[in-house]
Amino acid sequence: MQTKILLDEEQMPKRWYNVQAELKTPLDPPLHPQTKKPIGPDDLKAIFPMELIRQEVTTERYIDIPAEVQDVLRLWRPSPLYRAHRLEKFLKTPAKIYYKWEGVSPAGSHKPNTSVPQAYYNMKAGVERIATETGAGQWGSALAFATMLYDLECTIYMVRSSYTQKPYRKSMMQAWGAECIPSPSTKTKCGQAMLQKDPDTPGSLGMAISEAVEDAASHANTNYALGSVLNHVCLHQTIIGQECREQLAMVDEYPDVVIGCVGGGSNFAGIAFPFAGDILTGKHKDVDLIGVEPASCPTLTKGLYTYDLADEAGYTPLLKMFTLGHDFVPPSIHAGGLRYHGDSPIVSRLVHDGVMRAVSYHQSEVFLAAQTFARTEGIIVAPETSHAVKGAIDEALKCKKSGEKKTILFNCSGHGNFDMSAYDAYFAGKLVDFEYPDELIKQAIGRIPKVP
Ligand SMILES: *Cc1c(COP(=O)(O)O)cnc(C)c1O
Repeated sequence: MQTKILLDEEQMPKRWYNVQAELKTPLDPPLHPQTKKPIGPDDLKAIFPMELIRQEVTTERYIDIPAEVQDVLRLWRPSPLYRAHRLEKFLKTPAKIYYKWEGVSPAGSHKPNTSVPQAYYNMKAGVERIATETGAGQWGSALAFATMLYDLECTIYMVRSSYTQKPYRKSMMQAWGAECIPSPSTKTKCGQAMLQKDPDTPGSLGMAISEAVEDAASHANTNYALGSVLNHVCLHQTIIGQECREQLAMVDEYPDVVIGCVGGGSNFAGIAFPFAGDILTGKHKDVDLIGVEPASCPTLTKGLYTYDLADEAGYTPLLKMFTLGHDFVPPSIHAGGLRYHGDSPIVSRLVHDGVMRAVSYHQSEVFLAAQTFARTEGIIVAPETSHAVKGAIDEALKCKKSGEKKTILFNCSGHGNFDMSAYDAYFAGKLVDFEYPDELIKQAIGRIPKVP
């Protein structure tokens, strides 16, 4: 009975997989926030290095991972694939459950898969400092780790509600030499305006993105980096799904169901895009790709597929995506990394086209799933990850009913070692389930800029 399926270091994928190559019609281009005309590379030059801009738009199927980036990724990659024997037994399911464990990275999640190449390309372009936002603190710590490796400075705007909930994430960023500021802050013009509007705002990813973009755009030596949503971020995460495919092949398996939690979509993209490619090229038609999101921030399940801003202040291009409206402020649930109003344009397109689908859950049921996982497999997952665990458990229970022996694969995106206050709230019975009212979603969607 094999439990861990491991690849040798030499078997780590040497290329990222670009699912844009398989789309019959190209993605709708990003639009300039003022002119509403498609933007070109020049519009992004102020905040991104050229190589990342190229990766954002290319339809090349494979992109080589630079050797210097591979060297760093090998600190924790290839990551292990586990067969969840104990969880299967507990659920009495005929299904086979596999999970890809991304919590082995130094920052504890999948995010260093992209923070490392992003910091690398910025260093190559001569950039001295990177500004970014972080929700739960996972991205901030991943970028702090990566910028340290390449001798860059790093400024991180952290959503205020998470900054208060997770003080040790800030300490982690400091340990790697980065500066972490609660957002909205008085450091930026847009932050000052947001505080004036609502001094007690819990903040949002949309607000923190605006602050980081303003910081980067107003300093010549500074660039901006995003931990999710954008095409190049999803591209860097495809190392996960490529490894999974090889690891499953080692035990003569191919998944029937692939599951990931969805904040901006990058870890789901990472595990699912290689399999989405199999669907789009007709190699395997019957893979069920499921993104799991919180019922309190139901972007893919209740949002609109349209052009919207990626941030609150309107500094970023308009992206065609599922959105709840750029000024949507989701409740302060514990899965801080899933509180984003929009989603990856590629994930959105694939959901819109019916290649992938999405489901949503309340936080108390996902914490119960996380508890079940901790008490069977031992790993204490991040609140974000617990959404994927819940999705996998539900699929396995469906198999129990139907008697199907499906192979279920899910992305175990990160550990919850810094999220114990969330577990405390769960154990104390203090978690409140919040279904965002349809009326408020409708109002926020009504404020999305009109595109001719
Ligand atoms: C950030 C984060 C997520 C959500 O972000 P995606 O871009 O949707 O993957 C999920 N899990 C963990 C552990 C995270 O840190």
